[in-house]
This record gives sequence, structure tokens and C-alpha cells, in this order.
Amino acid sequence: MTKTPVPEMPTEQATEALEIVPVTETREGVILRAISGIYLVHADAKETGGLSQPYSCTLRGNLKKNFTYSTSGSTPRRVTRAKRPYSYDVASIGDRVRFTPIDETEGIIEEILPRRTRFTRSAFRGREQTLVTNLDQLVIVFACAEPNPDLWMVDRWIVAAEANGLEPLIIGNKRDLVDEAQFQERFAEYSRIGYRVLATSVEQNIGIDALREALRDRISAFTGPSGVGKSSLLNAIQPGLKLATGEIGSVTFKGRHTTTVRELIPLETGGWVADTPGLRQMTMLNLTKEELMACFIEFTPFLATSCRFHNCRHEAEPDCNLKAGVASGAISARRYKSFQTMARDLKE
Ligand code: GDP
Ligand code: ZN
Repeated sequence: MTKTPVPEMPTEQATEALEIVPVTETREGVILRAISGIYLVHADAKETGGLSQPYSCTLRGNLKKNFTYSTSGSTPRRVTRAKRPYSYDVASIGDRVRFTPIDETEGIIEEILPRRTRFTRSAFRGREQTLVTNLDQLVIVFACAEPNPDLWMVDRWIVAAEANGLEPLIIGNKRDLVDEAQFQERFAEYSRIGYRVLATSVEQNIGIDALREALRDRISAFTGPSGVGKSSLLNAIQPGLKLATGEIGSVTFKGRHTTTVRELIPLETGGWVADTPGLRQMTMLNLTKEELMACFIEFTPFLATSCRFHNCRHEAEPDCNLKAGVASGAISARRYKSFQTMARDLKE
């Protein structure tokens, strides 16, 4: 005779007993800020609308341990960062997390959800430091005039976005200072190759709603030279929104390493803006020429088939597909020159 376990039907009593067991409900959210092991988490809105108070969270112990010990297979497992109570890398600004609220203002992070993108900079002794994760787009702000847009700089920022898997959104602000023909003359080449270009004017309230819409439900970083109206735009999107963008000078391939991402700022209408003075150091140090070329999206069709010389440098070689594209006008000569200038700066 075999005993077959019979599943017990829950009785009235059992059901009641279950109900009094405290159920810890976890929630999901986004890390806005990280300071000394305390993570400010913006919980996903249960209902839509409005900004909720973020939770101050600590990491569940096991998350910290995973990070603290070396996982190298060849060496004995040992503590590698015992002096650090936390790291930028175990949980970062931008990470989506699952957390257990303790009360209305505090919680414990149980799990870091998979990252879509990760922005790093090389920190001390070649160690990579995560600045921000899950960035979706780079908002590249230039003015239509005062100051006139430096298209070579626009190109560099586009490369920075492309190389990091971010969607570039190009803003031509101060649209009120130019007419349509002048606007087209400055920015049309970008829309022609498939980028989204938005004309805005804080002065005349042009394109502000469209910009707000473009930011919705995404994590965006703003960049661009000073004086083009970044602060004014952000303030128009959400009064009081202030970022520590500071002076954004010329981008070099070497970059300077000074500041870091400070926080993500939730927008009332949805989405987050990264307060990222560090993005000015979005360097392209490790790009090869091939990778750089891939960041000029309009070149792609011309590189699909080999030039006459399979190792063509697309400079002075005969029967070069890329040069043919330039000659036919399909590729802007200015963009091609921009590529060549950037290619010269690459570390070989
Ligand atoms: P940021 O350095 O990029 O943050 O630029 P600001 O927001 O400080 O703006 C620089 C200057 O441009 C300020 O004097 C603004 O009033 C002005 N400005 C900003 N947006 C516009 C605009 O759409 N049209 C005009 N005419 N001026 C603007
Ligand atoms: Zn070629």
C-alpha cells in the first residue's frame, strides 16, 4: 500500500490564518541618488501623475557581499574592497531596483534589475566607475544663433551618443532669433540623415511641449555649450528645475575627469533628467576608426560593400565607396570632413 499525499483543502480557518501573516510587498523604482550607501529611490507611481517622495534605501546585505569579495576563479576568494562600505558599481544612479518599503520614507533594496546601458569613466588605476545606468537619450542643445551652432561640436556629441548606445535628440534653441531658412540651413543636415531635430524657443514658447513629450518616461542627459539656453529650457519644462550643468567647454577625445553624475531629477510629467556635469567627459578614448565610422550613421550604406581595396582607409584610395558617396552629395562633405578630423584624434 502506498500513501498518496492528499493535498489539503484549505479550510475557512486556514484561509483566515494566512491573511494575518504580514505580506511584505516589494515595489520597483529608480535610484535617483547615491550617497555613502544610502540610495534615494523614486518609486514607480502606483497611480499616474505627481511626484512622490523618494525612499531612502539601503542595500540588502547579500547585495553588498557579492560585490565585496573577489570572484576570480584562479585566486582564493578574498575581500577586495573591504575599505569601501559601498561602491558606485553595485548599484548606480539610474538603476531600476526592486525594494521593500519599511515605512513611508525608508526601504531596503532587494534586487538590481538588469541594466540597459551603462556609462562609465575610467577611474583610478584603470578601474571603471559607473556614472549612470539606463540612460536613454542625449539631448544635444545648441542655439540657432547667439551663439551660432558649432556643427563640428554637434557631430562630436552625436558620436558620443552613438558610441554609448544613446539616442541623440538635437535641439536648436533660440528659434526666435532666426527665420525658417536660417534654421534649415543650420540643422537640416541632421534631420536629413535621420536624427530628430527639435526647434525650441523659451522666449516664444516654441517646441517646449514637444521637448517635454520627448523626455517622458525616459532617462535623458542634457549637454551643449554654455549660453545656448539649457537652464532656460529645463526651467520651462519644469519651473525650479536646476541642474549643475556648469560650464560645458569643448569636448576633447582625451577629456578631463572632474565631476560625476550627481542625481536623476524626476519630471512631473514623467521621465528623469540626469544632472550630469560628468557627461562632458563622455570621452571616446577607446573608439577604433571602424567604431567611429559606425557612429556616422549615414556612412553605413556606403560601407556595406567593400571598396576596391578591402583595407581602404577611405581617404585617397581609388574606387572608394565612401568617397563616391561624398562626391554624389549623398554624404555631406562637411560631415565627412568632421569624421576625418575626429579620426585623426583617435588613439591608434
Ligand atoms: P545655458 O548656459 O545653456 O544654461 O543657457 P541659459 O539658459 O543660461 O541661457 C543663456 C541666455 O540665453 C540667457 O540670457 C537666456 O535668457 C537666453 N535664452 C535662453 N533661451 C532663449 C530663447 O529661446 N530665445 C532667446 N532669444 N534667448 C534665450
Ligand atoms: Zn573606401
